[in-house]
Amino acid sequence: MLAVSDINITKTTHSRLEETNLVNIPFGKYFTDHMLVADYEDGEWKNVEIKPYQSMMMAPSIAALHYGQAIFEGIKAYKNPAGQPFVFRPYDNFKRFNISAERMQMPTVPEEIFMDGLKTLIQLDKDWIPNQEDHSLYIRPFMFSCDELIGVKPADKYKFMIILSPTGPYYNTPMRIYVEEQYVRAVPGGVGYAKAAGNYGAAMFATAQAKKKGYDQVLWTDAFEHKYVQECGTMNVFFIIGNTAVTPDLGAGTILAGVTRDSVMVMLKELGLKVEERMLSVDEIIEAHKAGILREVFGTGTAATISLIKELRYKDYVIEFDVDSWQTAPEVKDRLNKIRYGLIPDDHNWMLKV
Ligand SMILES: *Cc1c(COP(=O)(O)O)cnc(C)c1O
Repeated sequence: MLAVSDINITKTTHSRLEETNLVNIPFGKYFTDHMLVADYEDGEWKNVEIKPYQSMMMAPSIAALHYGQAIFEGIKAYKNPAGQPFVFRPYDNFKRFNISAERMQMPTVPEEIFMDGLKTLIQLDKDWIPNQEDHSLYIRPFMFSCDELIGVKPADKYKFMIILSPTGPYYNTPMRIYVEEQYVRAVPGGVGYAKAAGNYGAAMFATAQAKKKGYDQVLWTDAFEHKYVQECGTMNVFFIIGNTAVTPDLGAGTILAGVTRDSVMVMLKELGLKVEERMLSVDEIIEAHKAGILREVFGTGTAATISLIKELRYKDYVIEFDVDSWQTAPEVKDRLNKIRYGLIPDDHNWMLKV
């Protein structure tokens, strides 16, 4: 077992905090004073270190750049009104990280390194958590292969790292969505359920095409028939039909099991809705729209929490919504945010104090 004392800590001699304006800071652009690095070598994790955030020297041959053994996570830390730092459900991200690792034939990261490392790093850089409304500290754990060898095989060496990025409000204006029927994100048997770096590179072309047509994101559909919905860009997706919220089930391994998705399902039930995880076809969505019972459509994810969808286009069929009249998604978003900022009781024990 690794104890916190086993993390070798080198503090910065010059904090950049004072010269960084944390108000309305853009997503993912600024990083805190410190980062965590651990090495996997000779079949074990070693050299767990927290040190000043800095660039790294790497050989051009490192395996991750060539064959893509690279995975990541996204988590957020918040301050409550008393200024105490809390992290939203990090243990769920820890478990998912290791699921991604196994799928990519990478070593799993022990809980002591992931969780204690995360807590120690955040404690050290807690002054970087903005205390403005809608601001937070985005936590990015990641792992990549480091063998200096361009032979195709699972690497022997890896680095696990955590970096932290203060972030302002995610201006998510309601989205226009293009139902994708040509390109695919995930197939049964593939890596759709893993937070693997390559999934994001592989999605960029289709997303750029949709943007050229004037849409913000694509709604991914199944690879065989382009009939069943999967996810919306890099978010999970919910459709409220009558008094039932439907979200695609995780059964086929094509959906990323979002922590926000899970939290939103809990909150929807608390608001009295029925929640169904099941296959949902575009035809069913259109039928519901024609019948006047398709009430709200939204995406969920750590970065934006909930993004409303104001338009869905499938072939020539266009569904438009008056999102200002919606009740449920805004209410869920508001309650979830209040839990995160410690403004209402955290009945589910989602907030981990660091
Ligand atoms: C990260 C991610 C999500 C959202 O997961 P959260 O845990 O809610 O942040 C959904 N879909 C994809 C493809 C993702 O990468």
